[in-house]
Formats: sequence, structure tokens, C-alpha cells
Amino acid sequence: MGLATFRGGVHPFEGKELSMERAVTLLKPTSGEMVYPLSQHIGAPAKPLVQVGDEVLVGQKIAEAGGFISAVVVCSVSGKVKKLEPRTMANGSKVMSIIVENDGAYRAVEHFGADRDPLSLSKQEIRDIVREAGIVGLGGAGFPTNVKLTPKDENAIDYVIVNGAECEPYLTCDYRMMLEEPERLIGGLKVMLQLFEHAKGVIGVENNKPKAIEVLRGLVKDEPRIEVAELLTKYPQGGERSLIYAVTGREINSSMLPADAGCVVDNVNTVMAVYDAVCKNTPIVERVLTITGDAIANPQNFRVRTGMNYNDIIAAAGGFRNEPQKILSGGPMMGQAMFTTDVPVTKNSSSLTCFTVDEVAKNPETPCIRCGRCGEVCPEFLVPVLMMKECMRRNAEGYEKLNGMECIECGSCSYICPARRPLTQAFKYMKREVGAIRRAKAAEAKAKAEKETAGAGKGSEKK
Ligand code: SF4
Ligand code: SF4
Repeated sequence: MGLATFRGGVHPFEGKELSMERAVTLLKPTSGEMVYPLSQHIGAPAKPLVQVGDEVLVGQKIAEAGGFISAVVVCSVSGKVKKLEPRTMANGSKVMSIIVENDGAYRAVEHFGADRDPLSLSKQEIRDIVREAGIVGLGGAGFPTNVKLTPKDENAIDYVIVNGAECEPYLTCDYRMMLEEPERLIGGLKVMLQLFEHAKGVIGVENNKPKAIEVLRGLVKDEPRIEVAELLTKYPQGGERSLIYAVTGREINSSMLPADAGCVVDNVNTVMAVYDAVCKNTPIVERVLTITGDAIANPQNFRVRTGMNYNDIIAAAGGFRNEPQKILSGGPMMGQAMFTTDVPVTKNSSSLTCFTVDEVAKNPETPCIRCGRCGEVCPEFLVPVLMMKECMRRNAEGYEKLNGMECIECGSCSYICPARRPLTQAFKYMKREVGAIRRAKAAEAKAKAEKETAGAGKGSEKK
């Protein structure tokens, strides 16, 4: 039997050799300004709990979750709150942020880092700890983890899947962490399995990481509830839907959550963060990221504090070897082009990838030759060439009819297209447009229903 995988997908140049042998190095800012955006997660922005002039400590909650789908923000240094003002994020948006002057002393809140036995905790206590630690999907999605760990029916969860695929080219931080700190990963998974008594834990790892598979298999050989699934190396194997399908054979679509298919999926960094929060009383104050690409002097994997400036990370990696033509937050397939590196590390900063050549700018778009390759590689069974036609006509209805909202923006179609058509970019834009139309329609329907209810009320008063 072949290795677990999914339909479609592509095999881009991996580029992982640049940093995969580089052990994770701690990079501690000595002093200076730290920036904590209030939106580093999916959902409502967090609400600040501090004011200008306040003294803060490592591990201190400085912003409260702004709703059910939201996340706490925790300070990663000690110092003084300098300002509250909008700052530019890696994706180019301006987000209200808490600016702290780091005093370099790293004074922490009481009991920070203290051991805690997870078996002494109730399920609710574990979920509360995860929420208060500010943990979100650290693979880039930023979805609040405590919400993921609180499905409607916890007995319906059959699988807790750890996403160790790291299918995005060039990225190696998850690989290094699986290799260097596998006990933290297994510890975090065990805590999660405590919440779902009927579930099995599966760590999915692509077969281009044989050392990690060997280490993890050795550690779980006597763990009846945990196994390691070796996955075929293929992009986007780490996409949530692709991973669920490869591991369980179950399928989800855009109107479903993984829990609807009996699954909870979390990335390696996230599961380790759950371990730190629950077993070591350590909220999210740092993460591991990869800085790589042919423009970087010394590509590597760093453990960095949230709030640090990307420019400090570039400097610590020896700066630029050559002038970068393209800088991405994330990897080459799903990363976002950056126009400035003067931005803070957030919880979901997985990598900084810098290239000396911008392939897109170098190879301009040509007309579609109707080769059909884009459809062959699409993991969602979509027909990108037709979706693109609707995008060009700005026909949101036509795009929806082609199931365009099921696009996971993986970039496989753009990658394979010989005409270098900007398919994924067009789909991202159109999905936002359709989303806005749907929201406007829903608001209109709600207003109409409220008006009718109010009218009916007046009618009954008259009677
Ligand atoms: S891969 Fe590109 S050229 Fe081929 S059909 Fe799709 S859009 Fe057209
Ligand atoms: S249409 Fe969307 S899901 Fe399909 S390959 Fe293109 S980007 Fe990926």
C-alpha cells in the first residue's frame, strides 16, 4: 500500500536544505521597542488591559480576548508601555498595537515556567489555561486554539491530528522542533487527548523528514493512543483538508469544521505551545521561525520573542547576501509579499523567505493555452481555468457556481500554469468579494426580518 496522501497537488522545489540542518538558536532581544498587535489571530481584536506608563512583565496578559473567537495577548519582555498606536503588520495592514520598551531584564510574573501536572487538571481547567495563554494556530492560520479544543460534542472527536507535514517549501522550523524537542510535542498531544477520551492521536509527517519520523516513532512505540503517519511528500499535504483526508479518508468543505468530520487538527508549534502552557505555566511569549532564501547570508531557525522586529532577525542571520527582489512572510507557495521588514513577529509568523529573483516579475503572464494542468493539480477538484474566466468578468455569481469558495488558496494551480497566470491571486480577491456580497445580503435579510417583526408588532397593538 502506498503512503497516505490526497488527490492532486504539486512537487515544487523544496529548498529545505538551506536551513534543515541548522539547530534552533535562541535569539533574545537585548532591549528596544517591542510591538504587540491586538489582531494576531482570526476573530475580534483583543482589548488592551494596560495604559501608557504601565510596568509590564514577561508572561503578563496585556490584552483580553475581544470575543469568543479572539485571543489574549501576552507580553514577552519586562518594561514599560510606551504607546498604543497602529503599526504595520507583515501582511501590510495597520493594526492597533501595544508598544513596550523592553528593559532587557526579563522579569516574569509569579510562577512563570513552573511545572504543573496535567493529570491534576479538569478538562475545563485545561481549556481555560490554553485560552489565557493566548494560543492560536501557529502554523499561520491564527485560529484560537481553545475554541478548536471546545467542539460541540467532544465525544464525536475520533482523531487529534498533529500537522507535522510542513509541506511549504523552504520552511524547516517544524522539522527542527520535531527533531530537537519531540517530548514537548508528545506531551502536548497527550494533554489534548485528555480532552477527547475516544480519540486517537496521529502525528502526520511527510516522508522527506525520515529522521523526525524515526525519532517520533521511537517515542510513541509504547503509547497505545498515539501513532505516526508517514505521508507522501506533496504540496499542499499540510493543508487542513488534505491532511484530514490523507490520515482518515474523511472529507470536509468550506462550510464544515474539522470537528464535523470528527477531527481536531493542530500544527507542531501549536501543540508544543499547549504543552508549555499546561505543563510549564508558560503562555505564548516566543515561537520558532525559519529565516531563509538565497538572499539571506545564513539561513536558519530561530527561537524568537513575539513583538521583536523582523529587521533584528535579518541582522542576526547575517543580513542579506544579495539584494532581495522578493521578501515573503511565509514560504513561496502561500507566503505574502512584504513591502517592509519593519514589522513585528506575531504568534503566527512562521518564516521570512527572501529571494534574489522575483520569478513572477521575471516571467510575465501569457495567454492561457488550455492545457488543463491547473485542474489536474487542484486538491479541491476545482476548475481554475473557468474560475479565472469568471474573475476576469468580475462575475461573483458565476464564480460561486463553479464552487470557487472551496478554493483553499494553496497556489498549486498558479505554480503549475505554463502561462504564469495569477490564478490564486485572482481567487483570493474574488473570495473576498463573494464574502462581502454574502455578508451584505445577510445584513439586508436581517434588517428586512426585523422590520417585518416590528410591523407585525404594531399591527397587533392596533388590535
Ligand atoms: S494551467 Fe494555465 S494555461 Fe493551462 S489551462 Fe490552466 S490557466 Fe490555462
Ligand atoms: S483553485 Fe485554489 S485550491 Fe485549487 S489549486 Fe488553485 S489555489 Fe489551490
